[in-house]
Amino acid sequence: MKIVMLGPPGAGKGTYASRLTVKLGVPHISTGDMVRDEIKKQTELGRRIKEYSDRGALVPDEIIIKLLAERLKKPDCDGGFILDGFPRTIRQAEALEKIAKIDLVINLNVPDEIIITRLSNRLICRECGAIYNLLTLKPKRDRICDKCGGPLYQREDDRPEVIKERLDVYRRQTEPLIEYYERKGLLRNVSCNDLMTPPEVMIERIIEIIEEKKRSS
Ligand SMILES: [Zn+2]
Repeated sequence: MKIVMLGPPGAGKGTYASRLTVKLGVPHISTGDMVRDEIKKQTELGRRIKEYSDRGALVPDEIIIKLLAERLKKPDCDGGFILDGFPRTIRQAEALEKIAKIDLVINLNVPDEIIITRLSNRLICRECGAIYNLLTLKPKRDRICDKCGGPLYQREDDRPEVIKERLDVYRRQTEPLIEYYERKGLLRNVSCNDLMTPPEVMIERIIEIIEEKKRSS
């Protein structure tokens, strides 16, 4: 099944998608990770991307679509995938339709205050990319990854002033997309109104939606 996860930055898309990928046996494709990889590799494309992400602005469509089209051609995507971080606009959704037929769009509804609290407490492993949270998913040792022992850090764009800018960008550009997918009958909503809701509970709800979709198609 080809799934898109929608939701504001900090809604938990990455956390849920990386767990769903294990349960469903399909790859988690995060355009954010793809973009950060390019920056890390210091390619020409990576340097151009960095200028945008440092400002909390969106990377131009043609760059992401190019990266994504190459990724979705790989054989591990044959049985489906979970796409996270893309599309964010109707134009991007239309471009995506040309390279993949999406079966289901999961929309995570999370209030702003939860997002700001969650993101400002988020830590990421520099070595393996594992995601932690000082409030809800603490590493066993301070600032050390449980999985690989790598150092944990706060992403530059998880600072409160950058979070606000990211939420503004999200509301302006992505919310029309929710309507777009609703009209196509692909959208299912999952709400989280409590910061302390364990990821497992959210995962269960999402799995139920996926199962229901499988039965109906
Ligand atoms: Zn790690």
